Amino acid sequence: MADFSDLLLDVARVRRDFPILDREVHGKPLVYLDNAATSQTPRQVIEVFDAYYRGYNANIHRGLHTLADEATAAFEGTRETVRAFINAGEAREIVFTRGTTEAINLVANSWGRANLGPGDEVLISRLEHHSNIVPWQLLASELGIVIKVIPVDERGVLDQAAYRDLIGERTKLVAVNHVSNAFGTINPVAEMARVAHEHGARILIDGAQAAPHQRVDVRDIDADFYAFSGHKVYGPTGVGVLYGKAELLEAMPPWQGGGEMIKTVSFETPTTFAAIPHKFEAGTPAIAEVIALGRALQWVGEIGMELISAWEARLLQHASEGVETIDGLRILGTAPDKAGVLSFVVDGAHSQDIGLLIDQLGVAIRTGHHCAQPLLSSFGVDATCRASFAAYNTPEEVDIFVEGLERVVGMLR
Ligand code: PMP
Repeated sequence: MADFSDLLLDVARVRRDFPILDREVHGKPLVYLDNAATSQTPRQVIEVFDAYYRGYNANIHRGLHTLADEATAAFEGTRETVRAFINAGEAREIVFTRGTTEAINLVANSWGRANLGPGDEVLISRLEHHSNIVPWQLLASELGIVIKVIPVDERGVLDQAAYRDLIGERTKLVAVNHVSNAFGTINPVAEMARVAHEHGARILIDGAQAAPHQRVDVRDIDADFYAFSGHKVYGPTGVGVLYGKAELLEAMPPWQGGGEMIKTVSFETPTTFAAIPHKFEAGTPAIAEVIALGRALQWVGEIGMELISAWEARLLQHASEGVETIDGLRILGTAPDKAGVLSFVVDGAHSQDIGLLIDQLGVAIRTGHHCAQPLLSSFGVDATCRASFAAYNTPEEVDIFVEGLERVVGMLR
């Protein structure tokens, strides 16, 4: 029996906040290990929706009535919560988006179109999620920019020497993830930012898998842009964050036009735009979702991010040791610095079949390419199984997963 008692996380108490964890799947208690895809939502966050729609549902910013004021205050209050969560300097550096994907597309279409031209280079990595690949590919074909790719070694660690070789005077942007969703590798983004800045390049960090699992300090990293999603950090879907340094956001053109993002609109003189961050928030945003995201980040603060990181690291260790004994199982992603992601393949057993059969035991893991096809193909596979951990997972759940996996693999071979 794994002993986690030296860690102060009261996991039974944490679990009581998540109503969904009481449900059964195929007659078995749910063991939810698909947290890298989306995390479950505590009741405190769910309750925000109830309170909002019962109490103060109104469009923000434009109203002079009480409900609009209350909604605006809660919405803008969340900007401050997010600022503090990632230690940004100013709340106006926080732009609300639909998620990480939209945040990256915003940078590509606004900063990218204004700053990139033929022959300019965008340096990404082999570890990227498709959402930090495809926006640059779309731009490349239009603007004639060149995408270069930092390779990984056999552990799934980015080759820092290759990074320093690839970066040059034509590099305008480095766009890398903080933590890989497919392998869990934690990248040395502060050091990578230092190298980027030495070469006069900007750095965009995809923090979708970091923000839920470790303390993020965008000023310590010296990130120019940092993106993450609400639904992976105990918040709702439909909302995410782009952090950008104020001077960069100020210089960037709008990327979507509409209400909220203007100062004046005229047919006679040029339309003028609102100050940041509103310049980048055209139309009615996901008001309840943003407010709920704020509650989710507060919830993380109440538990304690350091404690969550330590707990998940122990779950990962326990799971990695557990699956090691399964004959023919190979873990992909063995970086020394890893977040709570366990990706693996098993000789003679298709990942999809493992996923389907283990679901019958109530265990939810993800199988497939994890939106990281270039990474998987360089490891000679087109799919893996992935178990990923959150604050509410327990060592007992890891045991159920490992025993289930043993059974399933036995059935498939
Ligand atoms: N980047 C990484 C590393 C991710 O894991 C994900 C989600 N799997 C994304 C980007 C995209 O996030 P979203 O779908 O919330 O926009």
